[in-house]
Amino acid sequence: MNKADVLIIGAGAAGLMAACTLAKAGKKVTVIEARDRCGGRIYTLNSERLFYAMELGAEFVHGNLPLTLKLLNEAGIPYYAATGEMWQYRNGSFGNEGGFMPDWFLLMARLEKLEHDTSIEDFLQTEFPGDEYYDLKKAVRRFVHGYDTAETQRVSAFALRNEWTAEDDDSQYRIKGGYSGIITCLEDDVKRAMGVIHLNAVVKDIHWQPCNVKAVTDNGTVYEAAQVLVAVPLGVLQAADGAKGAIAFYPPIPEQKDAIKLMGFGAIIKILLEFKEPFWEDELSEVLAGKSLKNMGFLLSGEEIPTWWTQVPKHSSVLTGWLGGPPAMEKKDMPTEEILRRSLRSLSNIFKRDPEELKAKLVAHYIVNWTNEPFTRGSYAYDTMEAPASREVLNAPVNNTIFFAGEYLYDGQAMGTVEAALTSGEDVAKRMINMAL
Ligand SMILES: Cc1cc2nc3c(=O)[nH]c(=O)nc-3n(C[C@H](O)[C@H](O)[C@H](O)COP(=O)(O)OP(=O)(O)OC[C@H]3O[C@@H](n4cnc5c(N)ncnc54)[C@H](O)[C@@H]3O)c2cc1C
Repeated sequence: MNKADVLIIGAGAAGLMAACTLAKAGKKVTVIEARDRCGGRIYTLNSERLFYAMELGAEFVHGNLPLTLKLLNEAGIPYYAATGEMWQYRNGSFGNEGGFMPDWFLLMARLEKLEHDTSIEDFLQTEFPGDEYYDLKKAVRRFVHGYDTAETQRVSAFALRNEWTAEDDDSQYRIKGGYSGIITCLEDDVKRAMGVIHLNAVVKDIHWQPCNVKAVTDNGTVYEAAQVLVAVPLGVLQAADGAKGAIAFYPPIPEQKDAIKLMGFGAIIKILLEFKEPFWEDELSEVLAGKSLKNMGFLLSGEEIPTWWTQVPKHSSVLTGWLGGPPAMEKKDMPTEEILRRSLRSLSNIFKRDPEELKAKLVAHYIVNWTNEPFTRGSYAYDTMEAPASREVLNAPVNNTIFFAGEYLYDGQAMGTVEAALTSGEDVAKRMINMAL
């Protein structure tokens, strides 16, 4: 039996940040992680010949986010602005000027007037019925699927209003060497403060009484502590009883279970394609776009795999594809080779080449269907109408014994990000430390 003050289930950004904060405050901490690596949805490829330092999960620091930048600065990890032109490919032509949402101001004006929260789909159907605003509705759905990775029938119109009216902070960064630099630093800090991290340990059951917890893994190992901090993804908490990675509580915690069910967790497939050369920079692409695409950052399209980006300002022959929301959910069980085929078809439609030609230029691919990963089961959280109330329930400890942390419990402008996970982990650790006083 391994006894600690606090058991932390999950060694993602939230779990490790909490572990670090607690261990530095003198708590005896044991972290239990299902995978053979720390980081969770932070997954930098750093031992591969190809795709070196490429990200299969989190990639961008979306703005001047205080905790992420603090950790990077303290660790001396450089980061750089992810510049690049924003391009669109719509109705057979390229463009990089003009808005990305038709009737944007009208949409925002109507959203401003909304008095009672509803789903964004209900809002669109009520405020913009019929065919007149077909393009606007299509663009909103595409954005909600692609950016929030959410279902329009479930995502809160108030939450999207907040997101869309937030102060514009266009800065966006990539981390030199990848996001895993933060994870390595946190892991090292936990170990230096005498914390212990167990990998390949899938927690299945949590037996608890006030101030006494036993976590049992799928191979029967038992870890014991006074308190437990559950830092697994919302998708895992929402998984059906008995599913791989799912955690059962004895005695049950029905209020928390209900709160978990009412929150939104998106779907995502991320695709890395490395080509012999960056064909989007060649003459044919320049003729198609009417301008060189050498500085293209993002390319948004209406294709099956709609969103693509380059590594600009770095010169690279890697394209990253992104499919979010219900269209990604539909492909949850699709074989990787089929997703690859559809990815090449999307690119061939945009860049007017034979898919076989693109296939011949392909050097390597890496596709992660995160919704099909048992220890993630989706992308990141989005706000349903019930989410604020659910967060309140889950941010309160159960009998001073069970605590939760993760990106889905953060309430602020950086929802769904690494910053959200780090902040949630630090906040809950501080609350645990203060409670003990
Ligand atoms: C494809 C993709 C791209 C993204 N891009 C960005 C981006 O550009 N910028 C950004 O800021 N954010 C991005 N995000 C979101 C960001 O990655 C997450 O918000 C953040 O990493 C979540 O951290 P977390 O600690 O809450 O959860 P996780 O990182 O998921 O950590 C949870 C941990 O719990 C473990 N676990 C699960 N079940 C069990 C179990 N039964 N027993 C033991 N351990 C278990 C998991 O293995 C995992 O290590 C992206 C996410 C995805 C999927």
